Amino acid sequence: MKKRMISLMLCACVALAAAGCGGSKKFNNPEKGGTLIMATNAYFEPYEYHEGDDIVGIDVEIAQAIAEKLGMTLQVEDMEFDSIIAAVNSGKAHIGAAGMTVTEDRLKNVDFTDSYTTATQVIIVQEGSEITGADDLAGKKIGVQLGTTGDIYASDGIEDATIEQYNKGMDAVQALSNGIIDAVIIDNEPAKQFVSKAEGLKILDEEFVTEEYAIAIAKGNEELLDDVNKALDAIIADGTVQGIIDKYITAE
Ligand code: GLN
Repeated sequence: MKKRMISLMLCACVALAAAGCGGSKKFNNPEKGGTLIMATNAYFEPYEYHEGDDIVGIDVEIAQAIAEKLGMTLQVEDMEFDSIIAAVNSGKAHIGAAGMTVTEDRLKNVDFTDSYTTATQVIIVQEGSEITGADDLAGKKIGVQLGTTGDIYASDGIEDATIEQYNKGMDAVQALSNGIIDAVIIDNEPAKQFVSKAEGLKILDEEFVTEEYAIAIAKGNEELLDDVNKALDAIIADGTVQGIIDKYITAE
């Protein structure tokens, strides 16, 4: 019985490959020695941000190290955060790297590599705010970046809150600084960067949720997922990834 199953599966694979449905044909995979296209939203320092004419940051350097391992050249495409998964699935980009959290919902639309780091969601408020933790957010005006996990937590989990969605995290933080909203929910490291660039804001100690960041790859593209995972695992094991993180995030 088992044997028959395996031979049936083999037949199916051969048939798929012959029809061009299996393997790389179905997906817009990068050529060996070619260009690896990364979709990102470069307004998320320290993971990806503009510096002069360049897009730099932790995710960019990790993707660069992966491309190098695979003998490819990295090309970064900047777009709205909300468009990254579609870009990856349509073949416009090969990978999505944008401080992107692995969630059950996203896993329905896209595959993720192994995680390369963890992050938390934090709450930013004005310095004198009466909000001291997540429990105080009920009924408040909360700013988030559209389509992010902060958006999901705020929209799903906080009673009577009004959610203001912004395209960029910094726009939400600016609105908070101007008193238009009462709080922002966003990832911890960008939160520190944004707060340092705005007036009169602080990050609450309470960390909401811990998340895993990973790289998005078109759903079902096991060939590319395997290649990227092997490269990623190698640069995690040899300390390259930690070195990149330490370069951008200095311990307090
Ligand atoms: N980690 C959050 C998410 O995946 C935010 C990512 C981002 O804004 N670039 O939704």
